[in-house]
Amino acid sequence: MDYISTRGRAPALDFEGATLAGLASDGGLYVPRTWPRFSAEEIAAMAGLPYAQLAARVMAPFVAGSLTEERLLELTTEAYGRFAHDAVTPLVQLDGQQWLLELFHGPTLAFKDVALQLLGLLFEEFLGRSERNLTIVGATSGDTGSAAIDAVAGRAKVDIFMLHPRGRVSDVQRRQMTTVLAPNVHNLALEHASFDDAQAIVKRMFNDQAMTGRFAIGAVNSINWARLMAQVVYYFAAGLQLGAPHRKVAFSVPTGNFGDVFAGYVAAQMGLPIERLIVATNVNDILHRALAQGDYSQGTVTPTAAPSMDIQVSSNFERLLFDLNGRDGLALAEQMAGFEATRAMQLTNAQREGAAALFASARADADEMASTIRWAWEHCGELIDPHTACGLFAARTAGIAAEVPVVTLATAHPAKFPEAVERATGQRPSLPARVGDLFEREEKYVTLGGTYEAVAAFVAEHASPKV
Ligand SMILES: *Cc1c(COP(=O)(O)O)cnc(C)c1O
Repeated sequence: MDYISTRGRAPALDFEGATLAGLASDGGLYVPRTWPRFSAEEIAAMAGLPYAQLAARVMAPFVAGSLTEERLLELTTEAYGRFAHDAVTPLVQLDGQQWLLELFHGPTLAFKDVALQLLGLLFEEFLGRSERNLTIVGATSGDTGSAAIDAVAGRAKVDIFMLHPRGRVSDVQRRQMTTVLAPNVHNLALEHASFDDAQAIVKRMFNDQAMTGRFAIGAVNSINWARLMAQVVYYFAAGLQLGAPHRKVAFSVPTGNFGDVFAGYVAAQMGLPIERLIVATNVNDILHRALAQGDYSQGTVTPTAAPSMDIQVSSNFERLLFDLNGRDGLALAEQMAGFEATRAMQLTNAQREGAAALFASARADADEMASTIRWAWEHCGELIDPHTACGLFAARTAGIAAEVPVVTLATAHPAKFPEAVERATGQRPSLPARVGDLFEREEKYVTLGGTYEAVAAFVAEHASPKV
């Protein structure tokens, strides 16, 4: 399998190359040259497989040429062995139509662990084949940072620099990053910055030859294809449990950077019968506006109780637009350059109609999030976090036909956001024992002004050169 850039000018790479490169050198994102497709018989044969085996089966076509399926299975067994639930991503029934897919049983209590636990092992595998050092630079709205740090802390040949907007992540989220004291971990709190600002700094570093000449800069954000690939698996896991390939399922996905829901789109391309993918946003609703009205224009970020979705530029939307453009990279490069110059773009009719065939969207405001958290508690005895609440709100209001099961991706453990859950239900969710002493541990981070120059200087001073 080889990987091509959505902007048409970067060289094609194999899976190993795309995993280590992160962003393509033309500013685009890597996607597989073609979507592999399973037949209905092949999908039926996956029913009942343990998660690690299902993962190896679903991902094998994407890693061909870089890893054997046997080696991939060893890595998935190790990655998913660290989850606190033996089902890895258990499915919980709420009512006659609604289901929750619990993705938060990993070490840092959010769905990011599902991909990043594997990505940490992939980095180690590929770096072990050469003399290279990798410098990971990432931006986090809260959950990517802790999951990525957990996945690479203490590993040889990798340094990680994680940027977070100071004061805009929850206490649990911050402490999960800053209490990891391994010497290869660097937490940078950016002043006067939003997640979008932090993400823009990261993207600029990938295109700064003064940096890329000295350091092999790698990505743990969902611009890295390997992350999305790992997330495709749980769509299959849930679909199979609810009757795939013989029955269609809808998914509602709390969305920020469009990574998780894009993985659902990939599952559909691979043959999983999906009735609809519901893109759920909070009031930072650029994706809802884009899908409902064709208006992809950047607003200002409003902080909400669901900070991991407080995003106004959704990097992975570009991967969908690429397909909807007939995979014309040069045309997309022009469209994206227009967006980068004006911070606004109008989708073409072809893009709008193409998206409408599979996607729906909805936006939840603060009251709708709170009332959905309350509904899940009062009617189903489930405590859900504010991100999951956006998804469940959208799931319950999307008008999906009654015979189609709707699976909301439960993206974070409620104890990551205890205040919002307690306000809505009167119940304070307790942290699972595995992270219990978080509030006693020492923190380590540096505060920097939110400029590119400040971040680049810090990285240049502390990172290991490529070779
Ligand atoms: C990252 C995150 C999201 C958004 O996922 P994307 O892949 O960026 O769309 C939603 N909920 C939680 C809890 C997250 O950590």
